[in-house]
Formats: sequence, C-alpha cells, structure tokens
Amino acid sequence: MLKKFLLSTLAALTWNVGSVMAQDNAGTWVSLFDGQSLKGWKAGEHPASFQAKAGQIVCAGPRAHLFYVGDGQADFKNFELKADVLARPGANSGIFFHTAFQAADWPEQGFEVQINNSQPRQGNYLELKKTGSLYGVRNQYKAVVHDNEWFQLRMTVRGNQVLIWVNEMLLVDYVEPAEAVPPAKGRYRRLSHGTFALQCHDEESEVYFKNVMVKRLPDDARNNVLPPVVDDTYRQIAGLQDANFPVVNSHVHLKGGLTLEQALDGSRKTGIGYGIAVNCGLKFSVTNDAGIEAYLQSMKGQPAYVAMQAEGREWTHMFSREAIAKFDYVFTDSMTFSDDDGRRMRLWIKEEVEVKDKQKFMDTLVRRAVAILNEEPIDIYVNPTFLPDVIAGEYDALWTEERMGKVIAAAVANGVAIEINARYRLPSPKFIKLAKQAGAKFSFGTNNTDNNVGDIGYCLAMVKECGLTWEDMFVPKPAGQKPAQVKPAKP
Ligand SMILES: [Zn+2]
Repeated sequence: MLKKFLLSTLAALTWNVGSVMAQDNAGTWVSLFDGQSLKGWKAGEHPASFQAKAGQIVCAGPRAHLFYVGDGQADFKNFELKADVLARPGANSGIFFHTAFQAADWPEQGFEVQINNSQPRQGNYLELKKTGSLYGVRNQYKAVVHDNEWFQLRMTVRGNQVLIWVNEMLLVDYVEPAEAVPPAKGRYRRLSHGTFALQCHDEESEVYFKNVMVKRLPDDARNNVLPPVVDDTYRQIAGLQDANFPVVNSHVHLKGGLTLEQALDGSRKTGIGYGIAVNCGLKFSVTNDAGIEAYLQSMKGQPAYVAMQAEGREWTHMFSREAIAKFDYVFTDSMTFSDDDGRRMRLWIKEEVEVKDKQKFMDTLVRRAVAILNEEPIDIYVNPTFLPDVIAGEYDALWTEERMGKVIAAAVANGVAIEINARYRLPSPKFIKLAKQAGAKFSFGTNNTDNNVGDIGYCLAMVKECGLTWEDMFVPKPAGQKPAQVKPAKP
C-alpha cells in the first residue's frame, strides 16, 4: 500500500509540468474527439475494442480502457466534462477522471462516473450502481435513462466537490472530506488530477460516445462548500457504498411540507438513496388508478424510487394490477387489521386498540401478517412486528421464536423483503438474524411523519450487529417480475 502511495506521488509531481502549460485555454470548451479517428487517445489493452465511426467512439469487445493522452497536455485538475452516451441493453461502461494510462486491468487511479442502465447479474454479482454514479462513492440506485437512447453525462470537479448530471438533472453532489476515509477494499479514492478514460467493460457491453467536450477550470477554482463531518456513521456509509451495498431509505414520505427537491437535495448530500412513497388506500391521498397515474406523472424521471404504501386491507380491490405494477415497489404493514370480532384497529391509534387477551391478540396478529404476506402483491413488509403501545413493552416475551418463525417463513416463501424500520427500531436483532438465516431480504426505512426524513441509525446498527451484506438487501424487481404481475389474485 505504501509503495503504491509513493508511486502515485511521483506520478503527480511529473504531471504538474503539463498542467501549468494547459492553463492557456482555461474556460473554453474543447473537443477531445475529432469525430473520425482516435488521435489523442490510447487504449491500454485490446485496442480493437474501440473504433471511431461516423462521429462516434464505439466501445465493443473485450475489456479495455481508452485513455485520453492528447498532445502531452492531458492533465486535468478542475474541469467540466460532457459527453453524449448511448448504451445497449445490459451494458456497463464509464468515464474515468483523474486517472492515468495503464497497460491493462481496471484503472487504479482516479474516479469513475458510471454508465449502467440495466446490467444483469454476472454470476454471483449484481452491479447496483446505475448511470451517473460516482462509482463506489456516491451511488445512484435508480436508472434515470433508458438503453438505446442518447443521454448527456456532464460532470464538474472544482476543488473538493464533484457534481454529476444526467440530462441536466443533478444526481451527485459529493464533497470530499478533509481526511481520507479508509476504504473497505484497500483503495483510497482522493481527488487529485490526471486524464480521462472511456471504459469498454466486457464483451456483453456495447456503448457509444460522441461530443466529448472538456472545459478546463483554474487550478485554484473551488466552491464555497464545507467538507462533511467524518464520524462513525459517515465512515460506515462510505464503506457500504464501496461494497456495493444499497444504502437506500426505501420508506420516505413527502410529508409536513417536505418537497421532492428538498428530499433529493438531502439524498445527494448524504449519499443515501431514497424511495418516495405515497399512501394509497381508503381515506388516504390516493384512492384509485387515476390517483396513481397523477402521482407517477409528478415523479416521472426523478432520481428516486417511487413506491406505493398500500393501506388497510381493502387496497387490493381499489387499484388495478396494471397500475400497481407501475411503481418501483409496493409495501404494506400489518398495523391495520380487523380482529376475529370484526373490530377494525389501527394499531398506532390508542383509542382503536383493544387487547383483551395478549396471547390471543398476538396469534391473531401473526395470522393476519402471514395472510398479508401470502395474499397481497407486495415487495416489502414494513413496520414489521409493530405492537400497540399497551403491549409494546412486552415485545421480547410476546414475539416468541415460534411467532417470528411464522412471519419469516411467509416472507421468504413469498419473496417479500422485511423492512428494518428506523423510526420504531423494529424488528429486533433476534428477528433480523433469524430472518437472514432463513434467506430473507431487507430494506431500510425511516417512515417519516414530518419534513424531517429522519436518520437510518438503527438500520446501520443492525447491518453491523447482524452482519448484513449487499446480498441480503432488497432490490426492486424488473418489469414483468413484479408481485402485481406474477402473484395470483386473492381468492
Ligand atoms: Zn409510511
């Protein structure tokens, strides 16, 4: 590691010479590609993976990286870069910056701005970082552009800040901390300077680039942004992002005046992806398919997941399966149910709750939860194991291993993920460990009730305590495989 450090320091000293000369054309857009040839570019390995054709750089073939070498001035510290990109289905690619020519393998230096709208699982690995991610540092979880369509990727590096836009929508606002945060996998990512590279990831990945333009910014350019405070939470999140772990708060509501833009701004600042959920059901804001359509329109193309929170038990009859399947995912809880006497209770409302016999109440609650998991077309079971105030203090005694086992088995059998809820600090670590053992998937949720999204502290604590990895986490199912499309209707 130390050796690598010394080498990159040496390289940095050498590059500075070019950097000073290149200040001349600061502030103007310069094309890095002449439209006809790869003059000024150099491939590390498999040069045939890159072709200049009809004004485009075509990347197709075995793994290779095409480095911009220019005419000896290919060193950039602060800059703005933009390129039009088209990816074929399943492709993985990217644009590196602050990197250096390398004869083979994945570039060791610099950062990658990711291109990936739909790459499928490769063996045991599923890449969760989508187009516009600052790879492993600030990951974008929802694909915001489609395959086979041109989109613009634009990025600026100015001092300690990296901004990334896709089609002029800001996805990443990364401010580098003052101290290097130890990486999970042995590689420090620090902003420095260097050149650009285009990636040909593998033989299944076909990607096209055109209008590759750069604008130098002065070496001393910087934004007036303070570096983030590096505490244990920051370090843990950074480590998870580096390890392909989907750090997503899947249960955010635009409540208490919280606007979408405020939510997205918060998401960009923390690096935590959001799933924005609308409450759908009897006496809620959305009560029919038209309401779903209107909501989806308002969220169209946004860089956050769009989720349906299904309310009450009547919801399955209120919306068509076609409308439900348009959400990225659907979740519900068992906080509203009718007991065997037909008494409808919302468990969080004291006046509605009646617990005559605790054991009987628990058995009914477990039966209702299992029925929901078996019958309703949902992706995630949220606020799991929630108990009304009057018995919440007896959680550990009432949630016996047998009762937990029934809920977990139904979740696993139906492919329904279990939310780790930060607001209620549920379920218990014991439940999570049992569920992980049984092969359940998990999501994070704060379930905010006002304009404060809340923190995922409990979720992060459970990741540590229960040893969760990216493979334990929920990922929205692709179109065609959603529960609303494959789960048989309730009898
Ligand atoms: Zn909610």
